[in-house]
Amino acid sequence: MTNNEWAEYPGQMIPKLEAEQVLEHGASMRQLMIDLFPLCRSITGNGLRSTLEILQSLIPLQIHEVPSGTSVLDWVIPQEWNVNDAYVRNSQGEKIIDFKKSNLHLLNYSVPARGFFSLSELKEHLYSLPESPAWIPYRTSYYTRNWGFCLSDDQLRSLPEDCYEVVVDTRLEDGHLSYGEYYLAGQSRDEVLISTHICHPSMANDNLSSLVISASLARALTGMKLRYSYRFLFLPGTIGSITWLSRNQKQIEWIRHGLVLACLGDAGSFTYKKSRRGDAAIDRIAASQLEHLPEAGKSVNFSPYGYDERQYCSPGFNLPLGCLMRTPHGEFPEYHTSADNLAFVTRENLQQSFALLYGVLRAIELNRNYLNLNPKGEPQLGRRGLFPQDGTQDQEEIGRMKMALLWLLNLSDGQHSLLDIAERSGLSMDKLFDAATLLVRNGLMRDLSCSAPSSLQFEHNTRESLC
Ligand code: ZN
Repeated sequence: MTNNEWAEYPGQMIPKLEAEQVLEHGASMRQLMIDLFPLCRSITGNGLRSTLEILQSLIPLQIHEVPSGTSVLDWVIPQEWNVNDAYVRNSQGEKIIDFKKSNLHLLNYSVPARGFFSLSELKEHLYSLPESPAWIPYRTSYYTRNWGFCLSDDQLRSLPEDCYEVVVDTRLEDGHLSYGEYYLAGQSRDEVLISTHICHPSMANDNLSSLVISASLARALTGMKLRYSYRFLFLPGTIGSITWLSRNQKQIEWIRHGLVLACLGDAGSFTYKKSRRGDAAIDRIAASQLEHLPEAGKSVNFSPYGYDERQYCSPGFNLPLGCLMRTPHGEFPEYHTSADNLAFVTRENLQQSFALLYGVLRAIELNRNYLNLNPKGEPQLGRRGLFPQDGTQDQEEIGRMKMALLWLLNLSDGQHSLLDIAERSGLSMDKLFDAATLLVRNGLMRDLSCSAPSSLQFEHNTRESLC
């Protein structure tokens, strides 16, 4: 189906992704990542706020500010953290560890500290990664008052005995927790939730990759006539999703499908972590999309560790929401280190992830039930010019189209969705939808999500219900 034909099919809203769109989004995602990389983000503070403000230049994001001390479910919004400067200086006056050279050097959420320390006293506040001795680790201390510096193990082991001056010029005071929300209204209040954690400082894969992909998806969907409503959340991990859930408990009942996005920029194959339910439509749709990738991805079962799916899938919410990643957290050596840098995430990887997610959202919109209007015996497709003819075209493609037509006619008894048929046939939802469109146009099937009784009224259909 071309996009022109698409415009004539009012029940289907997200068109196929064109190659030039992928390239255009790839360029803007890469640039956004470069712009955001230097900021010192945390679960609160100006780095987080500036990140959201930069996102506002792309999408009309609403920025929420929740005061410190606010109770959110079983948690309390912490004090806001900001950094002026932080360094360690040796007795020659040289800054040997400097926050301004890499924001990973400072233990995230370090409380203010100043003083002079011996090497052994200083070492109690130093963190390194002996298994990757050249890299700076990323460490946080959000809920335990502490200060510290992170450095390469090579540097740590080379530090001589000395009197070291420590300056941790941070502010930890009542302020706000910031998060961003973009709601795109569709035809139905039924909602798709896309959630991304944005609390990490200068690291590219975890999780600027997902941030830029989510923003690009939001931009791509803006202006489309959507069947579902879409809500994009950009928030600090754990406390951010807990805050949103706490403040939106009435809204939650409208969530039909959801995805947490994490670590989508590395070169690994895709991993989809299922919802706690394990059999939600999003679990099945994601599995179907992964199956048809050139390099098939894998689905793994839910576990109560990982990203914000832990909160969305806590038993009191139990939302139909999974987590899409490439290499899962902790399974790539660069995870939570200075090696998770801009070179680690390529534009091509971002484009692949963007295209996959776009396909998942499109499949959510496509999924519906059809009714075979000629169910007694197979209708004569050849007479209608519907049976693909063998010829110069790709024989495999012709075979897939034939099978898509036959599977649709057989299973479209009103009870089976496009997703059911994709699972039974092993065909992609895209292919089945193309075939279904042909059958509807030729009066052989009816789209039960549309009110018109036949294809004759196709142009004037209005949708009555969602399937
Ligand atoms: Zn992380």
